[in-house]
Amino acid sequence: MIATAPIRFRAGVEGILTSNQDPYHGAVTASSTRPRSLLVVGAHAADFVWRAAGTVAVHTAAGWRAIVVALSYGERGESGDLWKQPGQTVENVKRIRHQECSRAAAAIGAEFVAFDLGDYPLEAPAEAVGRLVELMRELRPDVVITHTPADPFNPDHPVAFAVADRARKIAMGAAGVASAFATIPPPRMYLFEPHHPEQCGFWPNTFVDYTSVAERKEEAMAAMAAQSYLRDHYRERGLQRAVQARYFGAGPETRYVEAFELTTPRLVDGL
Ligand SMILES: [Zn+2]
Repeated sequence: MIATAPIRFRAGVEGILTSNQDPYHGAVTASSTRPRSLLVVGAHAADFVWRAAGTVAVHTAAGWRAIVVALSYGERGESGDLWKQPGQTVENVKRIRHQECSRAAAAIGAEFVAFDLGDYPLEAPAEAVGRLVELMRELRPDVVITHTPADPFNPDHPVAFAVADRARKIAMGAAGVASAFATIPPPRMYLFEPHHPEQCGFWPNTFVDYTSVAERKEEAMAAMAAQSYLRDHYRERGLQRAVQARYFGAGPETRYVEAFELTTPRLVDGL
């Protein structure tokens, strides 16, 4: 793998938020007048909160539309605090998780969509891929964010990557070639930061400064009562990534950063 200098995106300064050119298609086109949009695909209800809530909030604050999809509620494997309650049931956990995620999504200006496929194990039937393709056709996302393809500690996160990646490829077709189905412009594909970055082969090359909306991520994390143990961890991760971002240009005003790995090439008019 070629080591490249990370890209740092800041709202209102540079990159995907303020560019007046579509990075895949060059000059501004008619399609660029529509609101930009972002799609997050997580295996479990709260995955988007820990790994991308700050970035989603940065984009919605800049006028983007954002949808966060949870393929499952994480009701069995990632709702730890709720299972400490005697007499707890799967259906009750799912109901609570839906409320939590709806509140978290609202805090960052996003729409929450639950596929409710079940977790540990998450299985993705063809119908689920088809549903995600339809959602992509409706949203026409500029950016898709999901898990890393490998995760030695989680049985469901790689499944979510496979679903998101397959849906993206079906939705965009064989770019430029006439198809039997409607296609969308190819979205840029990012991986969000996993819990164990090194073991998952995570190679961050894109850093998003979310300092200006950090309180929104705090609000979203606070909504996740079932996983309160992760709040401090991901707040500290944001602080650590901000320290790293200073090595490629962030100033002292940058306090919170989320890291991503861009996996699709960018087509630009100049460097
Ligand atoms: Zn998860």
